Amino acid sequence: MTTTELRTTPAVSAIPLEDMDRRHLLHPHQWGASPERTVMVSGRGCTVRDVRDREFLDVSGAGNWACQVGHGRAELVEAGARQLGELAYFSGFFGFSSDKAVELAARLAGLAPDGMDRVFFTSGGSEGVETALKVARLFHHRRGEPDRTWIISRTMAYHGATYGSGTATGFPPMQEGVGPNLPHVVKVSPPYPYRAQEMYGSADVTGYLLQELEETIQRIGPQRIAAMIGEPVMGGGGILVPPDDYWPRVRELLSRHGILLIADEVVTAFGRVGSWLDSPARGMAPDMIVTAKGLTSGYAPLGAVLFRDEIAETVAGGDAYFFHGHTYSAHPTACAVALANVGVLEKDGLIERAHVVADWFREDLAGLTGLPMVGDVRIAGATAGIEIVTGPQDATPVMAGAVTAEMRHRHAVILREYGPTVVLSPPLVIERDEVRRTAAALTDVIERLRPDGT
Ligand code: PLP
Repeated sequence: MTTTELRTTPAVSAIPLEDMDRRHLLHPHQWGASPERTVMVSGRGCTVRDVRDREFLDVSGAGNWACQVGHGRAELVEAGARQLGELAYFSGFFGFSSDKAVELAARLAGLAPDGMDRVFFTSGGSEGVETALKVARLFHHRRGEPDRTWIISRTMAYHGATYGSGTATGFPPMQEGVGPNLPHVVKVSPPYPYRAQEMYGSADVTGYLLQELEETIQRIGPQRIAAMIGEPVMGGGGILVPPDDYWPRVRELLSRHGILLIADEVVTAFGRVGSWLDSPARGMAPDMIVTAKGLTSGYAPLGAVLFRDEIAETVAGGDAYFFHGHTYSAHPTACAVALANVGVLEKDGLIERAHVVADWFREDLAGLTGLPMVGDVRIAGATAGIEIVTGPQDATPVMAGAVTAEMRHRHAVILREYGPTVVLSPPLVIERDEVRRTAAALTDVIERLRPDGT
């Protein structure tokens, strides 16, 4: 692996920086939350270091499902620096473009299923979801069906924080107090096999969900629905892996009613669950795919929405014109970094390595299922979810924040929690012993947990 040196930082600057953070910096999704601050300054591979010179093992993908190639990859650093020197930025408006944006669009079209050759770049996932939702409505409008305005999404899904993507998101706090939110968004249940009995009153997950979806479509009126949006595997929901027949049957039902399907692959793409793109393999046959995070491994803010040609042609072919875009759409430096990132993923075989990481997870995390407070362990490629519950007799979910806090403070391992689920989402370059260390630390922390989750 090619990396640059890990920089150490004098601890003398620690206190003022952390105080300044508290005073000035509003943190995403945690405005006004815990007073704890960990100010990161450097990273190499799976190791990151903070301003107090404390070293952590990053098993979270830079805290947010990213960093597939690991921290400090020289190829990405050099590609970004070179592009900044050559042409840092030029707008994509008015027919302008950059060599890197064109190359990246073609590269992504090559990774996408046949007939999905058109790409629109954004600065991240929310903008991408927002774009896809607008395109879904516009597609039907252009085809003479302007009443198709409804969007179906799922409870527990995370799709972003802007108004459209935030309304599609299935976490109620996102919508509280900022309404009215985007109208015409309806939620259906997610596939949650571990909780099938209590959520659906049945072990037939797909059967229940298909019936609920069909009823929802009939209640709203099939001819009023533009699209459904869903992650192939739900990340923020807690690594919810659907039964194999779920997506093919959902796709078939939607197609029967002329409803589009948007695959939100902001988490799953670029190796996270073991493929470049996960939705085609899961039988989603999506009309649009939204990606971000792993596209640059998080080294630069960039998202990409891939469109089936018919969709792009309808909204923007011939004389059609779609007034939509952003200052930083197709930012040349971000695109150069993404190209280097895709190159490293390919050269180092990191997509395949996600399967190796999955095997290590299976070996090392299996033992956790024997612990009284572990309800379920779910693995999808290089990501895993461990659901924390009150105890073996009582599978009531317990917030997993205490586990991740202890992992960080006691063992210097960074994980994320999503409700009751502890999530592992490491750089794909994670080493065998780093997975072992994480599993041992998890065992230690979960064994100490009290049933009230403290
Ligand atoms: N979609 C999914 C599945 C996500 O997990 C996220 C972010 O975590 C988003 C969309 C939003 O992406 P961003 O935070 O880049 O706007």
